[in-house]
Amino acid sequence: MKETDCIFCKIANGEIPSKTIYEDGEFRVVLDLGPATKGHALILPKDHFSDIYEIPEEKVASVMKLAKKLTKQMTETLRCDGFNIVQNNGEAAGQTVMHYHLHLIPRYKNDGQHILWNPTEPTQEELEEIRKIITQE
Ligand code: AMP
Ligand code: ZN
Repeated sequence: MKETDCIFCKIANGEIPSKTIYEDGEFRVVLDLGPATKGHALILPKDHFSDIYEIPEEKVASVMKLAKKLTKQMTETLRCDGFNIVQNNGEAAGQTVMHYHLHLIPRYKNDGQHILWNPTEPTQEELEEIRKIITQE
């Protein structure tokens, strides 16, 4: 299924031109227009799922298999030193395009990027409280 007003549906299905680095029946992988680093790419499913909540399990499994294959290829061709695999869900998490996509971000020594978070310092009690909420114990 596609959404008529979704830019990533249009890109994934070839209605809007893109710098495509991989394509098969299920996915198109394109270079990000605002790359964090050289080679920053996005895996786009051709069908529309807004986020991790909507995309079926089997599709996510295929996304990760493809990510594995492409990180190997891109590491060899770009000669990068590492990779960040990032996937944002919801505005609060920084998602700006509401069509599921996985960021493949090659990292280079001293590339000046900071795809990190500020660590906090919870007590053991606070961690236990969160553990119980998540596991519903
Ligand atoms: P997110 O914040 O996870 O939703 O990521 C959206 C990403 O899509 C950003 O990194 C943008 O630079 C990128 N982006 C937005 N529009 C386009 C486009 N037309 N072609 C390629 N990348 C895009
Ligand atoms: Zn879409």
